[in-house]
Amino acid sequence: PPDQQPPDPSKKTLVVLGTGWGSVSLLKNLDTENYNVIVISPRNYFLFTPLLPSCTTGQIEHRSIMEPIRSFLRHKKASVKYYEAEATKIDYEKRIVYVNDESEVKGSVSSTEVPFDMLVVGVGAENATFGIPGVREHGLFLKEVGDAQAIRRRIMDCCETATFKDQDPEEVKRLLSMVVVGGGPTGVEFAGELQDFFSGDLKKWMPEITKNFKVTLVEALPSVLPMFSKQLIDYTEQTFKEETIDIRTKTMVKKVTDKYIEAESTGPDGKKIVEKIPFGLLVWATGNALRPLVKDLMSQIPAQKDSRRGLAVNEYLVVKGTENVWAVGDCAIANYAPTAQVAAQEGSFLARLFNQMAKTEEIETELLKLSDVQEKAPNKESRDEAFNDIKDLQKRLRRVKQMGPFEYSHQGSLAYIGSEKAVADISWLTGNFASGGTLTYFFWRSAYLSMCFSTRNRVLVLVDWIKAKTFGRDVSRE
Ligand code: FAD
Ligand code: NAD
Repeated sequence: PPDQQPPDPSKKTLVVLGTGWGSVSLLKNLDTENYNVIVISPRNYFLFTPLLPSCTTGQIEHRSIMEPIRSFLRHKKASVKYYEAEATKIDYEKRIVYVNDESEVKGSVSSTEVPFDMLVVGVGAENATFGIPGVREHGLFLKEVGDAQAIRRRIMDCCETATFKDQDPEEVKRLLSMVVVGGGPTGVEFAGELQDFFSGDLKKWMPEITKNFKVTLVEALPSVLPMFSKQLIDYTEQTFKEETIDIRTKTMVKKVTDKYIEAESTGPDGKKIVEKIPFGLLVWATGNALRPLVKDLMSQIPAQKDSRRGLAVNEYLVVKGTENVWAVGDCAIANYAPTAQVAAQEGSFLARLFNQMAKTEEIETELLKLSDVQEKAPNKESRDEAFNDIKDLQKRLRRVKQMGPFEYSHQGSLAYIGSEKAVADISWLTGNFASGGTLTYFFWRSAYLSMCFSTRNRVLVLVDWIKAKTFGRDVSRE
């Protein structure tokens, strides 16, 4: 079988780390027959993150937004090797990636080395906690499928425990206090979905929780969704008020315990107020931090010493200070926001670059051969023929080499804010267009549906939406 074939020694080995937005977009567009391609990631599927907040309430089932990497890679022209493993260290000098099988089932070999000629780092980022004590122990994140499942279980557990016989009234209030920290799009979308779950289903099925169920969104800055236009920020804050989501801006969380958070805000007299907010569920969504693997790679490259937030790359996405390492997505710093949109465009740019590099090499080899033919030509006629072929090839080479640097094209920002409303800042040829409301929500739905990875995903998401609308969300706790 092609999977068992040894690597072709005439081709370079291209190792791709990660199966997220950046790496998968690269693999989708790469002519794999030009390289020995090896993909390494602990996650054997691609995850369509924009719909992950909907999985926390059962509006969408998580499997509907997952696409197995194996099923996608099998359609590539040349075979691609995939190892389900975590890269634990990249040795830049030796050109080796050390990998570890972190899954439950391990064979007699569970860590090994993978040499590379070319490396693409697309490992994304970790959740930022800013070293705030208690976050990792008591909060839940929202980045991976497991996180969404844990949140879904926790919401229901809190509701069921709050209705336990003879439950203490103060404890009922705490259990039904759902706190979200971080007013970026992740926090806002989750708060909106949770409030929908409550008003659409929970309230009907457990009327006794109605009085005490409360969603609070805590944000350190003066407003939520700072990347959106002022008009849409106001619209979101107004909608949250109508939905009875409590927004606490200019409030910075400093400490987390098992039952409450400690948040600092400034009172009208300019004095600092520290307040304890009890919670049953705490979702922590304060953005990205560097992965240790990336931090370690940066420490090996002198040109990265001033870089703090990720791998500094040049306009061709080459990691600065290297020749054969590229970075895409959330782990790369190319002066764009860490979004799926940027990662996907970077991935497809790299695919074009690598396809072009392979073509260039092919033409250059052919040129060498032809000049040899020209030199050894027995007569003028064949010399002229070789000369013309060389000229044609040189022209082709110039055309192929004409690839410009990476340029990000911003299509706009979209976010769901609950009660069937969304906000959108769309870039048009004529400028920006901002809109919010129910129509935008239908636009949001159709945009994400069309962006789903495969037809299979698209159908599953659509069916989930219909199911939730018809029967309500599933409140059984797995
Ligand atoms: P990821 O997609 O995170 O992929 C990283 C990959 O690397 C994963 O496969 C992971 O398993 C793998 N990996 C991790 N560690 C290692 C290792 N040591 N070795 C090998 N592999 C490793 N952006 C938008 O533009 N629009 C949206 O609507 C949107 N919604 C979002 C909603 C949520 C809830 C979240 C969390 C993010 C959202 N984003 C959105 C942001 C977007 O998901 C990220 O910017 C995007 O995923 C970044 O792509 P990436 O390829 O860099 O990383
Ligand atoms: P973010 O970085 O956008 O927002 C995090 C927020 O947390 C910030 O506003 C910050 O001020 C706040 N914060 C930090 N520490 C705090 C503290 N101690 N107390 C209170 N607030 C604190 O993070 P995100 O929302 O997870 O988004 C990450 C990336 O993914 C962004 O680039 C975002 O654009 C992208 N994303 C996009 C979408 C979308 O387009 N719909 C959805 C989700 C994520």
